[in-house]
Amino acid sequence: MTGESDEVIIAGGGIGGLTLALELHRLGVPAKVFESVASPSPIGVGITILPHATKILYELGLEDALLRRCIVPTESLYYNRFGQFVYREPVGTSAGVRWPQLSIHRADLYEVLLEAAVSRLGADRVRFGTRLVSAHDAGSYARGIFATASSGADPTVEELTGSVVVGCDGIHSTLRRQLYPSEGEPLYQGINMWRGVTVWDPFLGGRAMLRVGWYPTGKLTIYPCRDGVDGQGRQLMNWIAAVETPRHLDRDWGRQGRLEDFIDIFADWKFDFLDVPGVLESAESILEFPMVDQEPLPGWSFGRLTLLGDAAHPMVPRGSNGAGQAIVDCRALADLLATGDDPVEALRSYDELRRPATANVVYRNRANPPDAILREVCVRSGDRPFDSLDSLISGEELDALCEGYKDVAGYSAKVLTGRD
Ligand SMILES: Cc1cc2nc3c(=O)[nH]c(=O)nc-3n(C[C@H](O)[C@H](O)[C@H](O)COP(=O)(O)OP(=O)(O)OC[C@H]3O[C@@H](n4cnc5c(N)ncnc54)[C@H](O)[C@@H]3O)c2cc1C
Repeated sequence: MTGESDEVIIAGGGIGGLTLALELHRLGVPAKVFESVASPSPIGVGITILPHATKILYELGLEDALLRRCIVPTESLYYNRFGQFVYREPVGTSAGVRWPQLSIHRADLYEVLLEAAVSRLGADRVRFGTRLVSAHDAGSYARGIFATASSGADPTVEELTGSVVVGCDGIHSTLRRQLYPSEGEPLYQGINMWRGVTVWDPFLGGRAMLRVGWYPTGKLTIYPCRDGVDGQGRQLMNWIAAVETPRHLDRDWGRQGRLEDFIDIFADWKFDFLDVPGVLESAESILEFPMVDQEPLPGWSFGRLTLLGDAAHPMVPRGSNGAGQAIVDCRALADLLATGDDPVEALRSYDELRRPATANVVYRNRANPPDAILREVCVRSGDRPFDSLDSLISGEELDALCEGYKDVAGYSAKVLTGRD
């Protein structure tokens, strides 16, 4: 049995696990990260970081490293599938919030987090190729059983002790399965997604996140996540094409998708500001992922064990919020562990604070995500081109749909600045 009894054992070195390690380090709490994959392998697409999460990453001193790699979008733009403008939402600092929204390639975000974790905690505190098998509350300490892969040989099993074990082990969480062995399958929300990245000319000013269309036809989200990728001013565009269909496969971050399964839906989406089929056909590679979530759990913390990020609250990716909520979890948990004497009490308070807040986001993402604006326009226009947007929906109603989501997710100017 190895380890230190005051050390936080973090199972999973993804966005949540690495951020938690950095947050704990900032507050002087010892921690170790155990990641199952043998070497870093973030999926090759982009991600949006919303201002509530940017704030935490900046306060960790990662601002310069992030700004060197990311794009800071100024607006979110909404169009119907006929290329008609519906709504413009200023985002981040353009919306009067102190912290920007960030669009970044996942590999770049991961590199920033990993470099910081290794340099601050030490390379021996971020271990790859070590998989959590089970975790146990042993009364005065926590135990994690880990298997370390070694090529050609059986894995070595190690028992590590610490103050608590935090399952940051993502959508296929071992700890969640241990705590809830009879939880059902993920809930398919009727929409399948294909995602990819394409080198393309900047569109609509080069700083916009664009959402187009609605179901049953299809929806596209697209935004640049890297600038100047080819010396000719082109950008790397991250896109998600979502289609309503009963056909879907199990969730797997790395599942390869096929253009022919969805391109027909978008074939005539040729707008004066963007050639959508052109972008999709020129993708470097395509991944397929079903839109699933899981019912919020009745509890995350069990004595010295708890869950964080996707392991705790998998949600449909409709509000660019899963990683953001994981990062907000990290701040809450680290603060509680650093300020209290009793780790069990800290985990209980973390559960009380973050579980209801994230459950609201899970439900809101299902029913009324930010792109519900497009649903309203599609339904009220009968999914046809409109003559006048004002006759379908008022500006106030559009604003209310958009702001309501931000309040629930915790990144409205009102919530982040404490202003009314
Ligand atoms: C199509 C799509 C688009 C998305 N876009 C956004 C977006 O724009 N903005 C946003 O905020 N979120 C987005 N998300 C959600 C976001 O990707 C996740 O919420 C986020 O990655 C969760 O971070 P995590 O650390 O909890 O899990 P992960 O990042 O998945 O990390 C979990 C880690 O645990 C490791 N692991 C697994 N099992 C074990 C084990 N037994 N022992 C040790 N390690 C283990 C894994 O290898 C992995 O490295 C999107 C999701 C999808 C599907």
